[in-house]
Amino acid sequence: MPKPDIFDIAVVGAGPAGLTAALLAAQSGLRVALLGPTARQDFRTSALMTGNVDVLGDAGVWERCAAAAAPLEHLRIVDDTGRLLRAPEALFDAEEIGQAAFAWNLPNSVLVSALEQALRETGMVRFETSVAAVELQEAKAVLSLEDDRSVEARLAIASDGRRSLLRQAAGIATREWSYPQTAFVTNFSHSTPHGNTSTEFHRPTGPFTLVPLPGNRSALVSVETSEGAAALMAMSETELARAIERSSHRILGEIRPESGRGQFPLGGLVAHQFARRRVMLVGEAAHVVPPIGAQGLNLGLRDAAAAAAIASQYSDDPGCDAAMTAFDSARRSDVGARSTMIDLLNRSLLSPLLPAQIARSLGLAALRDIGPLRRLFMRQGMGTARRTG
Ligand SMILES: Cc1cc2nc3c(=O)[nH]c(=O)nc-3n(C[C@H](O)[C@H](O)[C@H](O)COP(=O)(O)OP(=O)(O)OC[C@H]3O[C@@H](n4cnc5c(N)ncnc54)[C@H](O)[C@@H]3O)c2cc1C
Repeated sequence: MPKPDIFDIAVVGAGPAGLTAALLAAQSGLRVALLGPTARQDFRTSALMTGNVDVLGDAGVWERCAAAAAPLEHLRIVDDTGRLLRAPEALFDAEEIGQAAFAWNLPNSVLVSALEQALRETGMVRFETSVAAVELQEAKAVLSLEDDRSVEARLAIASDGRRSLLRQAAGIATREWSYPQTAFVTNFSHSTPHGNTSTEFHRPTGPFTLVPLPGNRSALVSVETSEGAAALMAMSETELARAIERSSHRILGEIRPESGRGQFPLGGLVAHQFARRRVMLVGEAAHVVPPIGAQGLNLGLRDAAAAAAIASQYSDDPGCDAAMTAFDSARRSDVGARSTMIDLLNRSLLSPLLPAQIARSLGLAALRDIGPLRRLFMRQGMGTARRTG
C-alpha cells in the first residue's frame, strides 16, 4: 500500500460534536479526514443555546435545521418534590436578558443530517470505519482502521464518545461517577399549546422536563429510578399517555405519545486534561453530564468550535504543544463550572437531608427574586455570561 498522506486533522467519531469539529476545521481551510461510522439513529432532541446556533448559522448548517427547531422563550421550574420545604415556582423569560430565546430545541437526527450534508459539500475525505488502534508519535498520530487502512494526521480530534479509544491512547485519566438514575425519553403531541415554555418539574428522583418542539409537540426527558424508567419503557401507549399527563399535571392537556422511546443510565465523567500528545478531546470523550439544564451537547459544540479555531491558529502544526496547551486552557473553566453546577443541582434533588433542601429552596428563591442574580443565572445557563456582561 502506498504511504498515506498526512492530514492536518483526523476527526475520530461522527456524532454531533465530531461532525461539527470536522466541518468547522474544513471550512477554515485545513485538510481534514473524518473517521467513523455514520451516527446511529437517535430520536432524542437537543436544546441548543444561542451561541451554538450562531456558530451553526455561520457554518451554513442552521438554515437546514431551523424549521425543525422550537424556540424556548420561557423556562419554568416547579418544585414537585412533595417535601415539607419546597422551593417557590420560578419563571424565567429570555426577553429579560435581551434574547429571543434561551435555546432552540430540535431532533438530534435533524442536526446530524444537516451536518452530514454540509460536510459532503466540503468534499472532505471520509472513512466510514471505526478506528481500531492508535499510535501517537512525536510529529503525528497514526490511526489504524478496522479495515486495515491507516490515516496519519498532525492532530487527532477525539470525538469518539465516553469510552474514547483516543483518550486512553493519549494517557488521559478521567474522574467518573454514576447516579442512581436513568433518563427516560420520548416525544409526544398534546392538545394544549406549550407557548414555547420549557417546564421542569423537580421531583425526588430527578427532573421531569417538557421541552417544546414546533407545533403542539414536545420532547420529554424524565429522570427516574432505573425501575421507574423500565416501567415507562414497558407501558402501552395509553398507559404512557396517562402517566405523562399525571406527572405533567395536565399542563399540556391530552397527550399522544409518538413511537420512539429510550432510556439512558446517568453518570458523569470529566477528563483530567482536554489535550495531550496530539489529541484534543471534544464532546463526551471529554465530559459527560446528566441531561439537566441542556448542557451536554452545548459544551460539546463549544469544544468543537474551540478545537477548530485553535487548530487553524496553529495551521503549520495543529497538534503542536502550544496548540495542546491553548485548547486545554480554553476549555477548562467552562467544562469544570458546568459539570460541577449540574452535579450539585442533581444531588440536591436526590438528597433527603434538610440542609440540601434548604440550600436548593433558598437558591431558587434568590434566583426568582433578585434581578441581577436572576439575569446572571440566565446568561450563565446560556453560556453567554462573558459575552454579554
Ligand atoms: C436523555 C438525554 C438528553 C439530552 N439532552 C440534551 C440537550 O437538550 N442539550 C444538550 O446540549 N445536550 C443534551 N444531551 C447530551 C447530548 O445528547 C450528548 O452530549 C451528545 O449526544 C454527545 O455527542 P458526541 O458527539 O460527543 O458523542 P456521541 O454522540 O456518543 O458520538 C460518538 C461517536 O463516536 C463513534 N465512535 C466511538 N468509537 C469510535 C472509534 N473507535 N472509531 C470511530 N468512531 C468511533 C460512535 O460510533 C459515535 O458515532 C442529552 C443527553 C441525554 C442522555
